[in-house]
Amino acid sequence: MASRRQFLTASALLGAAGIGLLSTARVLASSKEDRDRLSPVDVINMMKDGNERFRRGLRVNRDFLREQRERAAGQFPVAVILSCIDSRAPAELIMDLGIGDVFNVRVAGNVANPDILGSLEFACHVAGAKVALVLGHSSCGAIDGVELGHLTGLLGRIQPALADTSYEGVRRSSNAAFVERVARTNVERTIGVIRKESAILRELERKGTIAIAGAMYDLKAATVSFLPPHEE
Ligand SMILES: [Zn+2]
Repeated sequence: MASRRQFLTASALLGAAGIGLLSTARVLASSKEDRDRLSPVDVINMMKDGNERFRRGLRVNRDFLREQRERAAGQFPVAVILSCIDSRAPAELIMDLGIGDVFNVRVAGNVANPDILGSLEFACHVAGAKVALVLGHSSCGAIDGVELGHLTGLLGRIQPALADTSYEGVRRSSNAAFVERVARTNVERTIGVIRKESAILRELERKGTIAIAGAMYDLKAATVSFLPPHEE
């Protein structure tokens, strides 16, 4: 059973002697006690380390059936990740996470609505996750407004991010740099919606129980870059 101490030891080895030492390690909490000892910063560092392993082709050699059996009786996820449905940005894979490690909310354009806020509140307040991460990505097609069935309303939630993005160059979806900037603004806006509309999450963050964080995944570089932490 991986403890926080084992994780921290592995993390120290990672820095001192190279990331390959983690290739057969298990890194996340396997019990409520393990999870509850972690701080939000510990969890963010775990996700950063996991992305570094993924990016370098050094993912942990997981026994998914063993994880499935061990987690079947209960779950102690360290985080909840709100990410886009894009098939190229699966949160668990790009941050080298296993079964039971994180809750995963996916919706086109990683926007928040009451149902999604309820999912985040369940993950953090009821189930004890330490981080609510909004994860956007480069080349996100959701920033193109489309008039089609239920898509119209969903993508309408993203449109304000275009207006909020200051950008000097060509403001078109064919410009990858502009799309990346809008997707980043959209992450910041979604975090703002979470803080504004969820008194439960806002209070958990104020007490330091959880962190509400944002990050951008670069599809080409395979890097997850965390946005600067929130300052009161
Ligand atoms: Zn997307």
